[in-house]
Order: sequence, then structure tokens, then C-alpha cells
Amino acid sequence: MTFDLSSLTVSGIREGLIARDFSAVELAESAYARIDAVETDVHAFNSLSRDLALDAARAVDAVVADGGELPRLAGVPVAFKDNMNLVGTMTTCSSRILEGYRSVYDCTAVRRMLDAGAVPIGKCNMDEFAFGSSTENSAFGPTRNPWDLERVPGGSSGGSAAAVAAGEAVLSLGSDTGGSIRQPGALTGTVGMKPTYGRVSRYGCVAFASSLDQIGPFSKTVEECAQTMNVICGKDSMDATSLERPAEDFTLGIRDGVKGLRVGIMQDLVDIEGCDPRVRQSTLDTAELLAGLGAEVGATNVPATQYGLPAYYILGPAEASSNLARFDGIRYGHRAADVEDVLDLYLRSRAEGFGPEAIRRIMIGTFALSAGYYDAYYGQAQKVRTLIANDFERAFADFDVLLTPTSPTTAFKIGEKAANPVSMYLSDVYTIPVNLAGICAVSVPCGTVEGLPVGLQIIGTHFAEATVLRAAYAVEQASGFDSVSPLVRGLADKRGTTVS
Ligand code: GLN
Repeated sequence: MTFDLSSLTVSGIREGLIARDFSAVELAESAYARIDAVETDVHAFNSLSRDLALDAARAVDAVVADGGELPRLAGVPVAFKDNMNLVGTMTTCSSRILEGYRSVYDCTAVRRMLDAGAVPIGKCNMDEFAFGSSTENSAFGPTRNPWDLERVPGGSSGGSAAAVAAGEAVLSLGSDTGGSIRQPGALTGTVGMKPTYGRVSRYGCVAFASSLDQIGPFSKTVEECAQTMNVICGKDSMDATSLERPAEDFTLGIRDGVKGLRVGIMQDLVDIEGCDPRVRQSTLDTAELLAGLGAEVGATNVPATQYGLPAYYILGPAEASSNLARFDGIRYGHRAADVEDVLDLYLRSRAEGFGPEAIRRIMIGTFALSAGYYDAYYGQAQKVRTLIANDFERAFADFDVLLTPTSPTTAFKIGEKAANPVSMYLSDVYTIPVNLAGICAVSVPCGTVEGLPVGLQIIGTHFAEATVLRAAYAVEQASGFDSVSPLVRGLADKRGTTVS
């Protein structure tokens, strides 16, 4: 028998397993049944890991049969962005240059999910090397948004977001360098969190910009976001940037409400040109809602964030150009044939393997780091970064959390921004400053505009995830947002008619 994963939560799965309403194997089969039904339309996955999933599910069912203690994510079907290594899978980063590359070790965050009993359904499509905001930059074709198949799911973790929104997985992991979890979360009506820099190990996640990258979860609900954070956070000796923190249960305070919480609307950002007025209104309405629940809502400004986008498009490409130097046709993936010498091998393997956006980033980054320009570009951008971090710190003296829209628009049409990189870059105007400051933020659905989800970004200072999640939970409860995407509703209706 198969089940509708879009109506199941982590806690529901746990209860259902214990009550023997379903087995973990049945849940895994349910994920694959949904994948069979929708993947030709959605294309959330680059590869499936059926054998790994069934092995993991059987192991959970054996614990259930023995009456043993179930781990925290027992039997939960999960999906991983295709830049995270897992032995037994390919890790392509949606790039030809890594086509056919098989993981030789496990990403720590992935491993923690699996050690907690999660069932790995497959690896998700993404913008090549996480460069983009629409998942159109994948070498394997775009992912489509379950809310409207003509539209993008956001990016770069668009496949991870779409898999959850389409009920192909209950949870997924993405990575966020400038918005790649929060923005697709907003565009697909899912909850997406970028943890504080250092909270989650990046070991085994292919690096884009190492001073910005963080791994984080996608889920349908805030509680499941907190439950996933409980599993993936924590020091890892394999990632020197991961930090020692006392273990925290992020689910504990989420229902405590927002009475007295100091909420600052980032007015200058909310008012920027290019923000859809309906998205802006939705943000302001949600702030009102929080005020109605007892939050102390006020307006504030974090002035240096206006330079976030230009600083990021120096720093991000600079670090990417350095990180991508390792893909030379020798050690990983694609190697050009019939080459003359080793230089020819490097040049041709890279020219054949990288797509246009990866090449653009490598060129911008290499230029920004070149002798004579380093101080003017990279050095200046680093200074801007410090200003942004300082301005945020000042704002957090007065406010516990800050609000912006997650994205200036709802999901745009496939192809709409593909020809204009700068208009695409603007998608992350609200999310990028958070990465530059190394702080944390969540995107939580707060309403719809013309049937498409709108995400609210709730920003907290370093290690303020618990506060951010508490505010997000209040928004989730008060907004009445229905996370069932039209694609999923259509399937349910179809099933309804077949049965009757
Ligand atoms: N869209 C931004 C970029 O293209 C952010 C991507 C990300 O967070 N990986 O760089």
C-alpha cells in the first residue's frame, strides 16, 4: 500500500510506525510511487538511491519489530541536494564536469540524517555548483515548481525544495551561500532555514564559497525544520569552521508565542524598487499579525545591507573561482579526450565540463583576485562585509528578530530571467546580507499572491535559531497558509475520482 507523503510529518511518521499503520518500507515505496507519478513534470531529482533507501527502511522496520527505541528521524523519506556526498550515489552538482562521479565518503550532515534513521530517496537537482536562483542552470535541465509547472522552484536548491513541495520526500537538505535554501523555500511554499555559519558541518558538501556556505533543511512545517536542525547541528572535527555549542532542542520553545518579542521590519529593504508591492504588503500584513499576538513591532534600518549584492558578487565568485580550480579533468569526473598535453587537458576538460554560469563566476572571481585589482574589489568587498555585520549587530541591540520578504517576487516563469544574469542576481537581495554577516534566518510561508506562495524571511543574530523558529511557528499558525501545492491537490483529486 502507498501513502501520501505530503500529508505526513516527522512526528506523524513516528506515531504511524509505532502503531504499525505503515512500515518504513511502505513509506519509501510511497516516495517512489509519487516520483513515478510526477517526476516527468517536476524533475526534482538527478538520481534515485532505491537500494540504499530500502536497506535503511528495512533496518527501521527491524527496530519496530523488536520494539526497540526509534531514532529521531526513523523511517522519514529524505532527499539531498546533489552537492552532498553519500557513498553509493553520484554527486554531480548538476555539472557535466562531475558527470559520473561517485561519492567516496559521506557528507557529515547527510550521515547524521541517516544515523537518525532517515531513508535516503535520492539526490536533488540544483543550479550548477549552486550558482543561480532558479535551478535553470542545471546541466540536466530545469526543475519545475509544483505550484505552477511553468514556473521555477527557485534555486539553487530548487530540486530539494520541489521534492518536498511535491510530496516526493518529507524532508530535504539544501545549501545556502546567498539564499539558496530560503529563496526556493519561499517560491515553493516550504520552510527553509539557513543556520548560523558554523552551526552545521559542511564536510562532504562541494564548496562554492567557503566563508558563506551553510547546509540547512527544507520541510513543510516549522516544527519539522526544528526537528531536522536537532539532528544536523553540532561540531564536526572534519570541518574546522564548525563550532562547539551545547546541544539544543530547537523544538522546545517554538510554541511559546511572540508576546514581548521585539520584531524589526527592515524598512529600507522592504521598500526597494523591484519588490512586488503585493509581496511587500504580505510582509507588512504578517508583521501586523505578529503585533496582534503581542510582539513589539517596529521599523528599523540596516543601512550597509544596500551594498550586500555587489559585495557578494565579488566575494562569492572569488571564492568559487578558487574552489573550482580542483576540477581539472585529472581527479574528478569529466576528462577531455585526445588532448595534446596536460595544459590542453586542463583547458579542454574545463571548457567542456563547466556550463555558462560557472564559467562566468570563474572569470569574475579570477579577475577580482588578480594582481592590481585585489584590493580594489576583493579588499573593498571584505570591508563592506564587516560594515554589514556591524550594522546587523546594532539592529540586534534593539530587536530580537528582523523581517524582510524572502524574495522580491513570487516564482517567476521558466526562461523569464535566464537571459539576464543581473535580474537573476536581484532575486537574492534580501537573503545575501544574512550570509555575509554569518547570522541565521528562516523563510516561512506567509500567504499567496495569485495562487503562488510568498515567503517571509525572519532573521536572527548568531545562534538565535530558537528565537527565529519561535517567531516562524507563530507566523505559520496565524497565517493559515495551506502547504498543499496544486500539483499534490490535483493528484489527490484524481485519486478521489478513480476510487469513486
Ligand atoms: N543565487 C545566489 C547565487 O547565484 C545564491 C546561490 C546560493 O546560495 N548557492 O550565487
